[in-house]
Amino acid sequence: MDVIKVMDVNLSNKIAAGEVVEKLMNVVKELVENSIDANSSTIKIELIDSGIKMIKVIDDGCGMNKNDAKLCLERHATSKIYTDEDLFNINTLGFRGEAIPSIASVSNFLLKTSDGVTGTEIFVSGGVIKEIKNSDLRKGTEITVSDIFFNTPARYKYLKSLYTELANIVDYVNKMALSFPNISFTLINNDKTLLNTDGSGNLLKVISNIYGISVAKKMVGIKNSDDDYEISGYISYPENARSSKNNITILVNGRCIRNTLINRCIVEAYHTYIPKDKYPIVVIKIDCDTSLVDVNVHPTKMDVKISKIDNLLNLITDCISNTLEKLTLIPEVKYEDRPISNLNEVTTINNEIDFKEDEKKEYIEPKFEDLTFDFTYEVKENEVSYEKSEDEKFKMINPVALIHGTYIIGENEDGMYIMDQHAVNERINYEYYLKEMGKETIEATDLLVPIKLEFSNKEYLILKQNFNILRNINIGFEEFGNNTIIIRSHPNWIKKDYVEESLRKIIEVIIEEESFSKEKFNEKIATTLACKMSIKANEYVSLEELKALIERLRQTNNPFTCPHGRPTIISYSIYELEKLFKRVMQ
Ligand code: ZN
Ligand code: ZN
Repeated sequence: MDVIKVMDVNLSNKIAAGEVVEKLMNVVKELVENSIDANSSTIKIELIDSGIKMIKVIDDGCGMNKNDAKLCLERHATSKIYTDEDLFNINTLGFRGEAIPSIASVSNFLLKTSDGVTGTEIFVSGGVIKEIKNSDLRKGTEITVSDIFFNTPARYKYLKSLYTELANIVDYVNKMALSFPNISFTLINNDKTLLNTDGSGNLLKVISNIYGISVAKKMVGIKNSDDDYEISGYISYPENARSSKNNITILVNGRCIRNTLINRCIVEAYHTYIPKDKYPIVVIKIDCDTSLVDVNVHPTKMDVKISKIDNLLNLITDCISNTLEKLTLIPEVKYEDRPISNLNEVTTINNEIDFKEDEKKEYIEPKFEDLTFDFTYEVKENEVSYEKSEDEKFKMINPVALIHGTYIIGENEDGMYIMDQHAVNERINYEYYLKEMGKETIEATDLLVPIKLEFSNKEYLILKQNFNILRNINIGFEEFGNNTIIIRSHPNWIKKDYVEESLRKIIEVIIEEESFSKEKFNEKIATTLACKMSIKANEYVSLEELKALIERLRQTNNPFTCPHGRPTIISYSIYELEKLFKRVMQ
């Protein structure tokens, strides 16, 4: 009989204290990655109580023969000599081979595996081999990890709430499903299916499985490349923005990675399309020569360093901005609008949600049969192919009324529209200021009556340090005694009815910001002035004027959101109106 060396109990406890089993997600990760390495096409993960009672991973991969099965459990007891320090930095060891024994050392661990020739079953309890016997021949591997930390209760308390543990697992499995659309992933917790992908290789379908069908319908394909990089994937319509950054998935050569620069660049490409504290849903695939990627920056292989990163970032920015610019982004009000599937809420880690509360929510699986949503068609449809003329972002909408002095009601042959008068105005002004401020030469206008502005001593100190900014944007002024300046001329893009107010705002921004790039400064000024100079709520404007306003909105680069990322227009299609009034039955 083969005897596997029993692991030293101290040693195994120390390993358990390392990062391997710090989170239940790490256990799932190790098992799932082994399944992927075994060329599985189906991976099923079953949990009881978020995995704290049981984690079972079943795959249909190549399996192991008896020797390999034993080896995978004993490797760490025989392969290397460790110092204590090594053990606590277990990540630096490239522990793939070491993880299984460490998981087995703190749980009841059952391994069933077969390479199609021999079937083996090994049961390990707290790192001690209890039984090795022959098993059935179904090719693949099934690992059951039960009662984790039963022999090291002190570790137990390091686990987060069951909800957080589950959210981490869901998040990890989601990312794996996105990375490997060719593998079918099933994730079940307490008999509830949280994710089920079909392994058909269709990325959009995986997105739909994760986020729900309504989100998938509002994803748009992207594609771009240069000599070094090829990028593709899907980005969400701004209306689908989420409060968690977690929904940006970056795949480099098929591997899910983290990269702060790429993340930031994606979020910035959505600037003014979505509010500041919201983030898009993005799955971006980056393919390149492996020599351009250094995966060894961080041992978990999540953080990677990329050569020619600036080129890549430009490529991504261009691709996303061009795509967004071509879309008609008028959110449609739908009769059945309700919060999108609860799975999203599980994936978004939110410690405030009580786990039990969450359990009450039923997960509604998207039903493909019920919806005439043909994915292959949708993918093609979503590929950027919009042929709109440059100065026509949406069909003209005729204003018919202004209600509450705030909302413009409008119509065209497609339906009814509601516009936020202030937001519309703000977008127009914002683009006006940005364009004017970005011009090479800025003309100045002399003031007939100079404007005297007085400041507190602290404000004046900061302003004085930044006089060059005033000069750069062509504000003509001179110091005038104590903490005071006199302005004699101003750039002519300042609207003539708002000269003093605008100048005050510009100086306020300079004093508040203290340091900034020219681009950020222009951006800030444009946003601030646009808001100030736009029609306020409760201000009544004639239909004629509203019509002119809508015409001007249509000429902007992004007519669909104000500079703060809030929508300018929402729509009711005629069909939706008919549904609302039961003129048609669904
Ligand atoms: Zn505003
Ligand atoms: Zn706004």
